[in-house]
Amino acid sequence: MMRLDKFLADLGISSRKEIRGMIRSGRVQVNGECVRQADIHVDTEKDDIRLDGGILQYRKYRYFAMDKPTGVVTASEDRRQRTVLDLLPQNLKNLGLFPVGRLDKDTSGLLLLTNDGEFAHRVISPKAGIEKKYYAVTEGTPDDTDVTVFQNGLVLRDGLHCLPAQLEVSGENSCLVTVREGKYHQVRRMLAAVGKPVLELRRLSVGALRIDDLEFENGICELSQQQLDAVFGGNIQKKEAVKAGI
Ligand code: URA
Repeated sequence: MMRLDKFLADLGISSRKEIRGMIRSGRVQVNGECVRQADIHVDTEKDDIRLDGGILQYRKYRYFAMDKPTGVVTASEDRRQRTVLDLLPQNLKNLGLFPVGRLDKDTSGLLLLTNDGEFAHRVISPKAGIEKKYYAVTEGTPDDTDVTVFQNGLVLRDGLHCLPAQLEVSGENSCLVTVREGKYHQVRRMLAAVGKPVLELRRLSVGALRIDDLEFENGICELSQQQLDAVFGGNIQKKEAVKAGI
């Protein structure tokens, strides 16, 4: 059971204050009855709750994608710098969302946000090996030797071994890098290790979920079940392909 105004606020419908106004003005019905009190308790599983006649389904867990701009830190809180959570519209600020994994302050692109800890863990776990693809602008153009070095799993300057990764040259001073792990500054350090320091970095996809296929509104987009499946789906297909030796 939960308060009616909290139920509506958790759905991200509007601010708590506006929601109270909606309830007072008779726009909300519970089990066919118009209710005008914000503090009544509703059963989120069983009650039929409607706004302007449209049924509302309670969702405990929410999943969003953000097109992260550069200049903000991937953290839930920071005393000095703007965080990705500061960019959320007011109606999504109290859902308990947090970023799934991390993009550097100077990296832009696809960042997932959720309030589902288990989902986040599944995405970032190195065991899951979900592929993340980045577009990088570099000083100098990577060459075929670099492609092979990436394929073989390069060793960073500090001795850290990277898993095999894919490097595709996409133009002069630019390339696409696909990695299956997420070590600190990984792509920047990998490209620096082959003498091609990164000038710009943008994440294009996580699994088979591609930023170009998403429709962002103010830089944020709620993900459908199909889009969530794509986060894992792309990888499953790849693994099956590897197993089958394709
Ligand atoms: N690799 C990096 O170097 N930076 C990121 O933000 C993500 C991957």
